[in-house]
Amino acid sequence: MPLNEGSEPVIWDIQYGSPPTVLRHCKKCGRKSEYVSSGEFRVNAQQKNLDIWLIYKCSHCNTTWNSTIYSRVPPQRLGVALLERFHRNDEDLAMQYAMYIPLLQRNGAETILPDYQIIGEDVSLEKAVTIKIQSKYLLPLKISSVLRRKLGVSQREFDELLSNSRIKSNTEQDLRKCKLSADTLIAISQ
Ligand SMILES: [Zn+2]
Repeated sequence: MPLNEGSEPVIWDIQYGSPPTVLRHCKKCGRKSEYVSSGEFRVNAQQKNLDIWLIYKCSHCNTTWNSTIYSRVPPQRLGVALLERFHRNDEDLAMQYAMYIPLLQRNGAETILPDYQIIGEDVSLEKAVTIKIQSKYLLPLKISSVLRRKLGVSQREFDELLSNSRIKSNTEQDLRKCKLSADTLIAISQ
């Protein structure tokens, strides 16, 4: 691993201003519109099984769209504690689902990633450093965007740093293309 041994990594924490929004046609608005998570679930009993959705609302007219979480699931499979969280619209749970892109994709939704802040120490390109990029929610953010923004470098400068191997990832991924993963470590060298 191209890491700088013996030094603690600098932590950059990605914080999102809101969950992703969903772009879909709104019948009432008569055009494509952004739908935002309402933070509320809908639980519906179908005989002995349950359907559970996260409710989204058109940001212009409040028309709803339901994102399927569970379809015809036996309640005992979910357990009492989880079911209770669905029933009382548990804020953390609603946020976890709203931040989970694979669920939206499974429901055929076109998603728009939210804006984000990078909380953490600025680093200088003058000295070797390892950076750990982390986030509570794993959205498919391009690592190159995060690095360029926080380092304050242009696309051309960034490309140059890559071709000179001054910026590398711990997994040797192509930093021009790859997305944030659970343990993204970046090494900057001179
Ligand atoms: Zn609408």
